[in-house]
Amino acid sequence: MKNCLVVDDSKVIRKVARHILETLNFTVDEAEDGREALNRIEASVPDVVLLDWNMPVMSGMEFLRTLRQQKLGSQPKVVFCTTENDAAHIRAAIDAGADEYVMKPFDRETLESKLQIVGVV
Ligand SMILES: [Mg+2]
Repeated sequence: MKNCLVVDDSKVIRKVARHILETLNFTVDEAEDGREALNRIEASVPDVVLLDWNMPVMSGMEFLRTLRQQKLGSQPKVVFCTTENDAAHIRAAIDAGADEYVMKPFDRETLESKLQIVGVV
């Protein structure tokens, strides 16, 4: 089974994402901010990270920049979640090392298609 780390400060979003991912046969871990996510990745690198943008303690962008500078055995794919359909915003995330993005709120079909694009489904 592939593993997905869901990083979001919203417990509701984490729960919804976990449910969808489990129906897609992922094992799921959760982190509520970028700092907690980095700690988890130090212990074990997931196949893919579903990453929120706005979070306290460490934002999605700070997390992504830090992650991509780390020398890991393998880098996870990163799909970041945004509520803003803003080309400049999306480009900034891609430049920082995101592989794909998904608009919130997402459904199963949308998330599955994004996971297919990054090659983890
Ligand atoms: Mg948030």
